[in-house]
Amino acid sequence: MVPGHEIIGIVNKIGSKVGRYKIGDKVGVGCFADSCRKCEACLKGLEQYCFEGPNLTYNALEKDGKTPTQGGYSEKIVVDENYVLSIPNNIPSDQAAPLLCAGITMYSPLMHWNAGPGKKVGIMGLGGLGHIGIKIADALGAEVTVLSHSLRKQEDGKRLGADNFYATSDPQTFKKLKRSFDLIINTISIEIDWDRYLNLLALDGTMVLVGVPEKKSPLGFAALGGGRRSIAGSSIGGIRETQEMLNFCSKHNISSDIECIPIQQVNEAYQRVVNSDVRYRFVIDNKSISN
Ligand SMILES: [Zn+2]
Repeated sequence: MVPGHEIIGIVNKIGSKVGRYKIGDKVGVGCFADSCRKCEACLKGLEQYCFEGPNLTYNALEKDGKTPTQGGYSEKIVVDENYVLSIPNNIPSDQAAPLLCAGITMYSPLMHWNAGPGKKVGIMGLGGLGHIGIKIADALGAEVTVLSHSLRKQEDGKRLGADNFYATSDPQTFKKLKRSFDLIINTISIEIDWDRYLNLLALDGTMVLVGVPEKKSPLGFAALGGGRRSIAGSSIGGIRETQEMLNFCSKHNISSDIECIPIQQVNEAYQRVVNSDVRYRFVIDNKSISN
């Protein structure tokens, strides 16, 4: 869990060069606020994979190597316009903020592995990442199936756009869905029975990991080799793709389901996140910082 990453606000000062933004524009800064700009990843617009490590917006250091970044806990932030995103007007700021993290985390692999009409996509886990993944995969035209521990969130899953919903606590699920999915996006960070889940992939199917598992996992080869399947990883997205995602969400009226809180409630909210008791992201109203 990496809280306080992204921040959305209004431009209130611009630098000396005439740029793409003007005072009063609604803009956002995602998970990183800078990168080296010279490595192969940066030159390809994949700044999230910067070889020197992008300068994360929260709990990292600025380019000077000593000033800490405070992300969503800041009242203001100074950022080069190349790392600033335009927030479409039809997405309320609080509902747009998690798109800059959860939204792009799901959008990027869905696009890279060609989710769309005729494709069967499984989303493992219905939390902050999963709920946006369902919306985006559905808008892309894929058949979306949620794989959740229980059927507790089934109604929510359908409301968000899922075509099917299965409980992974039911062993029948794994028999029924064997060789089903072209793509599974795994958003859960707990240990799983890899062979069991990989067998849900169709021939040439791919499972993409976007959650951050706490420990390394020993992998068996049987399920991978038994269907030319792949396991891959993906991490947020570059600036260009993040803007593309925001425009896509604007067009399809997609935003994050959130609970907006004053910063004074942040400890309570943290506990609720630990207890998986949030639907589906907390957002801090920064106006409350000066209260
Ligand atoms: Zn770089």
